[in-house]
Amino acid sequence: MNLILLGPPGAGKGTQAKRLQDRFGIAQISTGDMLRAEVAAGSPIGREAKAVMAAGHLVSDDIIIRMLGHRIAQPDCAKGFILDGFPRTVPQAVALDVLLAERHLKLDAVIELKVDDAALVERIAGRFTCAACGAGYHETFQPPHVPGVCDKCGSQSFTHRPDDNRETVKARLDAYHRQTAPILPHYAAQGVLRSVDGMAAIDDVTRQIDAALGVLPPA
Ligand code: ADP
Ligand code: ADP
Ligand code: ZN
Repeated sequence: MNLILLGPPGAGKGTQAKRLQDRFGIAQISTGDMLRAEVAAGSPIGREAKAVMAAGHLVSDDIIIRMLGHRIAQPDCAKGFILDGFPRTVPQAVALDVLLAERHLKLDAVIELKVDDAALVERIAGRFTCAACGAGYHETFQPPHVPGVCDKCGSQSFTHRPDDNRETVKARLDAYHRQTAPILPHYAAQGVLRSVDGMAAIDDVTRQIDAALGVLPPA
């Protein structure tokens, strides 16, 4: 199964992608996570992307498309993948069509998570991540069961993304509306677009995605 999770920053793409990965055994591909790893490694891509990401702008299509092309050729993608944060521009969507056609793959669904801008600012301001395993949390909406301890791995070390602040969020939302939302008609025309109410609680959103995919929820 090959899926795209589409939605503005903070919509819940990563949260839902991890659940889909766990349940269906397909790879979560987050271009944001890949870029943050390049920045941490100080690679040429990371050096180029760092300031762009900090400003809340989009990294160039060239870099992203090349990175994604390598990634979907990895063995863990053989059963399928969930694209989280890609494509983000019309040229990226067109390049993905070509990459998929070359590999004789098709998209099963593009799931759009619809969330109001005001709610996104709150989600992003409260977001943090386990430094050891990458599990995602929110101060209010998804705190660890034991405060300060990761549910998944027990680590007590967490990170907060430098671009997750109220000022940069404005630029990121603007980039979404101007550059990413225009790809929705591209997928509507392909008949694969499914929109869900991303304002609902996390478990409800998972149920809506199950319904959109036509799968039974886990017992
Ligand atoms: P994205 O990958 O789209 O940027 P995340 O999955 O990282 O978004 O979610 C952003 C923040 O909001 C995280 O802190 C997450 O815990 C929280 N969150 C995700 N989905 C919901 C939801 N349906 N309701 C409330 N908070 C949510
Ligand atoms: P979020 O879902 O919260 O917007 P991501 O982790 O997906 O955040 O992306 C973080 C940043 O990485 C983006 O603001 C952008 O600078 C860069 N980025 C990630 N994916 C892409 C992409 N497909 N095209 C261009 N830039 C990207
Ligand atoms: Zn952890």
